[in-house]
Amino acid sequence: MQADYKKKLIEKLKIKYPPKDRWEMRDAMFEDLAGRPLWDRDKTLIQSALIENGYDDIAAKMSSCSAAKRCRSPYCDYCQRDLFDGQKERFKKFLLKPFKSDEAKARKNLFFVTVLHELIPFDQPDSDILRFPMEKIKSALASARAKLKAVRRSYKDQIKFVGAFELEAVNGLLVNLHPVKGQVLAEMNGTKIKLSDKFILVHSHFIVDLSKIKPSPNLEKEPVDLFREKLREIWTSTRQVDVSRLYENKPVSQSLSRLADYPLKFPIKYYYRFNGIAADNEIIVKGKKQNLARNHEPAVMAEMITGVYEIGLNALFIRMGLTKASK
Ligand SMILES: [Zn+2]
Repeated sequence: MQADYKKKLIEKLKIKYPPKDRWEMRDAMFEDLAGRPLWDRDKTLIQSALIENGYDDIAAKMSSCSAAKRCRSPYCDYCQRDLFDGQKERFKKFLLKPFKSDEAKARKNLFFVTVLHELIPFDQPDSDILRFPMEKIKSALASARAKLKAVRRSYKDQIKFVGAFELEAVNGLLVNLHPVKGQVLAEMNGTKIKLSDKFILVHSHFIVDLSKIKPSPNLEKEPVDLFREKLREIWTSTRQVDVSRLYENKPVSQSLSRLADYPLKFPIKYYYRFNGIAADNEIIVKGKKQNLARNHEPAVMAEMITGVYEIGLNALFIRMGLTKASK
């Protein structure tokens, strides 16, 4: 009931109000009678995780987020919506518009790319202390960016990448329960994932536009097949690279609108879904149903929120090959 109500309300607000006013409206309307926000993220959980781990300042900033003064954390519902709106606009402008309304041409040239770059353990200065591995994450992002740039250079910069890097907390125990993801990450890691391991998976999701590539008449392969092979020469482990067509049963604009949000989820739960496998959210372990969505441990939640705050969203966006004036 409540979910339905929320959905309808959002749709109404979308139609009637520009983004800025929408926020004002939502501030006023999205609370239940007890004053609790009717929204998905558990604010109480985030607040207590931050405070428990000594981040009172960020906790205060997030809890006082308002239309007048946004906290700018992507883990904040309000600020995340802004982020989604911005990214959807960018996708429209840089990926959809250039094809005018040639749906078939867009479908032939736009592809959704996922690359798993690196698996980085949380810093553990003490056995019971967990820290966001800032330096290692920064260097993983820099190295991934450099490699993506090199790919573009090999196409004389005639291809566009629009999307974002995603930092996903990984829990060794839960990931080992998953039939595929545990193995995929173990191969990347070079060794089996231990149950006690806690990692951050640095990966990227972006759309590539291959429309400026001239198909070579001598080759039997499509440009997208060559592109996929090129990525797989760089990121060589099993399932490290995925290049897919847009949803076939949806207009391109709808696909893009969904995919724009995709790397900007900033979850506070572990979700074990991977390439469509185990998408039902539940597996059976020793005869018992195990739900595959679990809240992050408070320390993991706090470190992810504060780590992403410090690293900044600009470090996460992928906008390559867009014209300067319009970035
Ligand atoms: Zn906020």
